[in-house]
Amino acid sequence: MKTLGKSHKLDNVCYDIRGPVMDEANAMIAKGEKILKLNIGNPAPFRFRAPETLIDQMTSQLTEVEGYSDSKGLITAREAIAAYDLTKGIEGVTPDDIYTGNGASELITMSMQALLDNGDEVLVPAPDYPLWTASVTLAGGTAVHYICDEKSDWYPDIEDMRSKITDKTKGIVIINPNNPTGSLYPKEILEQIAQLARENGLIIFSDEIYDRLLMDGRKHTSIASLCPDVFCVTFNGLSKSHMIAGFRCGWMSLSGDKTNVKGYIEGLNMLSSMRLCSNVPAQAVIPVALKSNPQLETLLAPGGRIYEQREYIVNRLNSIEGMSAVRPQAAFYIFPKIDAKRFNITNDEQFVLDFLKAKHILLVHGGGFHWETPDHFRIVYLPDLESLKTSMDALEDFLKTYKQN
Ligand code: PLP
Repeated sequence: MKTLGKSHKLDNVCYDIRGPVMDEANAMIAKGEKILKLNIGNPAPFRFRAPETLIDQMTSQLTEVEGYSDSKGLITAREAIAAYDLTKGIEGVTPDDIYTGNGASELITMSMQALLDNGDEVLVPAPDYPLWTASVTLAGGTAVHYICDEKSDWYPDIEDMRSKITDKTKGIVIINPNNPTGSLYPKEILEQIAQLARENGLIIFSDEIYDRLLMDGRKHTSIASLCPDVFCVTFNGLSKSHMIAGFRCGWMSLSGDKTNVKGYIEGLNMLSSMRLCSNVPAQAVIPVALKSNPQLETLLAPGGRIYEQREYIVNRLNSIEGMSAVRPQAAFYIFPKIDAKRFNITNDEQFVLDFLKAKHILLVHGGGFHWETPDHFRIVYLPDLESLKTSMDALEDFLKTYKQN
């Protein structure tokens, strides 16, 4: 018999939705065992509901959005996104510069497919949201990871970034606010990244899907607003800010100098047309969604669930011997450090697997985010306080005796 299926470019790319930890979790679930999932940024299972205005809007429009839309999306949605970009200081974006997608995910992959020839390089953060590395690799490129520095609130290390630019580098990816670290980048860091892109003729890809999930009165700066002379692709969507990850609603906006990217834009248009269009009912809610979101503001303010869960998780982690964690400023992730020496950890995936087997709690190892040293993991702190407390009690107990062989 012939063996079918090609060898996969992605075999060496980490992704948290597959691998031995997920295999074990699925086997445990199949046996009827209960698992507490701290591994995925999906708000709905944790009793976060979409704003009612959004559901009403989608329901009332369903009969009008049964057909394909323009391949870039409904004009009403794209006008609303262009207006939103302007509120963020990104100038000159017209509806023609905007592509809606089945989540930002589809567009991240598309943005790399249209760009890369074999051997081209893209600077991607470490740790990263692993779809970025996977998308670069799938498109035939090489993801070159630059370090984000835990000691500086997980901000990108500009010198490391600079040292990794070669004549094959085509673009820089930033994830701001960041998954998995919860870091929010200040203007000074963004300006330095913009300068690197400017000096080296690179495209900036800025993933800003968490730009509305900020705590402590912080403000988000879109890098595209700081460099109208640099070609930028800015990604956003409603999966997280409106708790509708399952509706698949994202977009990307092109801004800045387009002189050298005409071929790239032609490629994007072709790929966009090839998938016909993104989910049209989901696009229909964009104008309402981008007006205001009082429900989210409440969740992120003191007393709100996301805020209080962040407070609990960061304080508790820092009280456990052998653990430390930088306070996240945005989103709902934390990327704690574990004292690898103390627990003799040489394999972070094994650590997460051992913890899963012992305590039935699912985390993602740092390597899943292209973090090379085996001394981090990610927690999604969406589950309610009681579940987070259970998980931290379990972690503290587990670490009392854990030594990796
Ligand atoms: N970008 C980042 C940084 C994410 O964390 C996620 C999802 O977790 C996505 C993009 C994908 O979002 P979407 O649901 O819009 O595809």
